[in-house]
Order: sequence, then structure tokens, then C-alpha cells
Amino acid sequence: MAERPTIPFTTPFPAPGEAKYVAESLASGLTSGDGPFTRQATELLEPLVGGGRCLLTTSCTHALEMSALLLDIQPGDEVILPSFTFVSTVNAFVLRGAVPVFVDIRPDTFNLDETLVEAAVTGRTRAIVVVHYGGVGCEMDVIGEVARRHGIAVVEDNAHGLGGRYRGSALGSLGVLATQSFHATKNISCGEGGALVSNDPVLFERAEIIREKGTNRSQFYRGMVDKYRWMDVGSSYLPSDVLAALLVAQLEHFDAIQARRHEIWSAYDRDLADWRAATGSVGQYVPEHCEHPAHVYALLLPTAEDRTAFIEHLAAAGIVAPFHYVPLHDSPVGARLGRVGEGGCEVTGDVSARLVRLPLFAGLGDADLGRVLEAITAFAPSA
Ligand SMILES: *Cc1c(COP(=O)(O)O)cnc(C)c1O
Repeated sequence: MAERPTIPFTTPFPAPGEAKYVAESLASGLTSGDGPFTRQATELLEPLVGGGRCLLTTSCTHALEMSALLLDIQPGDEVILPSFTFVSTVNAFVLRGAVPVFVDIRPDTFNLDETLVEAAVTGRTRAIVVVHYGGVGCEMDVIGEVARRHGIAVVEDNAHGLGGRYRGSALGSLGVLATQSFHATKNISCGEGGALVSNDPVLFERAEIIREKGTNRSQFYRGMVDKYRWMDVGSSYLPSDVLAALLVAQLEHFDAIQARRHEIWSAYDRDLADWRAATGSVGQYVPEHCEHPAHVYALLLPTAEDRTAFIEHLAAAGIVAPFHYVPLHDSPVGARLGRVGEGGCEVTGDVSARLVRLPLFAGLGDADLGRVLEAITAFAPSA
């Protein structure tokens, strides 16, 4: 039999209109930041994050760095965050000298365990950074209440969560700041890109300045000041309008992309139910009050050995199913600069050793989806 092509874990959706918009952007000569496509992308994005004001950035990593600058994080300040996340969530704050305080995740949603957050608060705590894993909302009512009681900011690393909802509210609208990613691996992508979302007008005004090298150039372009000056410590966090052109085409197809991703996610959930029960594998728990955006389909295999065998089994069938996240609390930098909250990060270690993600992208056709399902159901963990 002929070798069948490999089914990737993810690949960006080729949205109709991308090449046309990019060509238009190049032809216009308006290729620097904050051009017409940036304005259009921003207008398309804001309703998806609950109406908060958005600034496109060069990445989610950079939007997180902006968040740390906006909150005036100082050396020695503490920031509470999960260890089970991408390194950027933590790096952004460590770059300002913060001490990351790693709190464990829940074994069912893989989100920050809201019952452990308050015990991690000290007099030096300045922020809680939540990551909505797979776009399943963290328990924001509980976390928000702890933050209010202690006068701490909540930042949402919403890299997974575009289009998700918690108790009816859009993810990205629940913290004082939120960050989005348009990396090639995310639901909507422009290769490398992101956005900062702000629900606070004062922070938003400062964010515009920090993003433009610390100058009020944005106000100057709007005719609000007669010259632009150095107003704040900042950097260059705005993407080229060429990338924003790509993003416009992607955002115009948001509903279609999401509809297909949900079909695939639901097929995994439904068609693997018997296999999961038979093998003792479990999927991510989605609470009744959370609407997820089909960003990740994660499976927990019974043991770490089963996970390794499962990944090898799928690889032999030409299917890429990667694991993640390698815990940050006991990584070389995390262990040196951070501290672990009360109770440790045992769940993080366990989930990290047993979790695997299935192929999920809008371009995955029914035949390939069938191949993935067939390969999975042919796998039996060694008892
Ligand atoms: C992808 C991701 C990031 C980083 O996004 P970039 O746009 O690549 O900088 C940060 N946090 C989480 C949780 C992510 O999944």
C-alpha cells in the first residue's frame, strides 16, 4: 500500500482573501504599523473579546510583556500563575524582576486551581495571571473575588481562548488586561502576532504609548498633540500592516474556522467515548457554564508509559499528536527564580506526564479525521 501523507497536529487555515489583502497592503505602501488593515482587524477582533479595546501586537508574548509594564511590576513583586503553561506567561513578568509563584492546576480542567490561589497571596503579590486551558474558562468568579479582596490585578493569558465564554461573558473580558495570540498554531493566525485587550481606559491610553516606543505618536497621528514625545518606558510592539492584512482575512472567516473546529472536537468527544471508558483515558472536563472555542482536544492516558506508547502508535500511523507543557516550576529558570505555592504542583507534574493533544485544525477533512479516530480506537494501553 502507498504511504499515506502524514496528518499534522495543526496547520494554519488558508483563509480566502489573504493573498489579495497582502498584495493590497504591499501596493499601498502603508506597510508600517497601525495602517488601514490594523484598524480593520482591530474592529473585527473587539466584539470577539467582549468589546474591550484591542491593540494588535507582534505576539502574545509581547502583549504579556506590555501587561507587566502596564502593571508597573517591580523587582521582588510576586505574580501568581500556573506552572502548566507556555513559558511566555511567566517570562513576561520575570523580565521585570517579578518572582513567579506557581500554583497547581485542577486535574479535570487543567486550569489554575482556584481553591489554592488565596493561600499563595502575600503582601508582595501584585497580579494573578490565568490561562484558560483549551479556552475552557478558569473559575473567574472565585479568582476575581480573591483579587478584589487583596487589591491584586487579574490578567488573562487568553492565547487559547478566542471565542470562548465563561458564564456568558467572552474570555478576554474578565481581567483588567488580556492577551491574545495569532501564532500559526492558534485558531486564527497571521504567522506571528497577538493583541492586548484592555477593559480599563487609563491602562489603554498608556498601552498605546508603551507599544509605540514609549511615545505618544498615536495621539499625534490623531491630531491630539502637536508633536510626539517620550512619555513612558516602552518598546516596539506593533506589527506591520502586512501581517494585519493576513489577520483580516482570517478574522473574516472566524465563524467558518470555528464551525469546523467544533465539528472535529465534538467527533473526538463523541466517537472516542467508548474507547476512553475502555482504556481509562479521559478528556478535558468542560464545566456547564463554560463554552470552549475548540482550541485543544486533550486526552489524559492512564500512565506516562501509555502516553509514550500512544504517541508512538499514532506516529506509526502517520499522525502527529504532541504532548505539552513541560512544568515551569521545576525547570532550570523556574526553580531558580520562582517559588511553589502551598500544596506543591503535584497535579501539574501528573497531567504533564500523561497529556496528549489530537490533531485539530479547520483544514482537517473527514477522511483524515476518520483515519485519526480509527488509529486511536486501535490502541490499547498495556494493562
Ligand atoms: C501560544 C501561547 C503563548 C505565546 O503566544 P505567541 O503569540 O507565540 O507569543 C502564550 N501563552 C499561551 C498559553 C500560549 O498557548
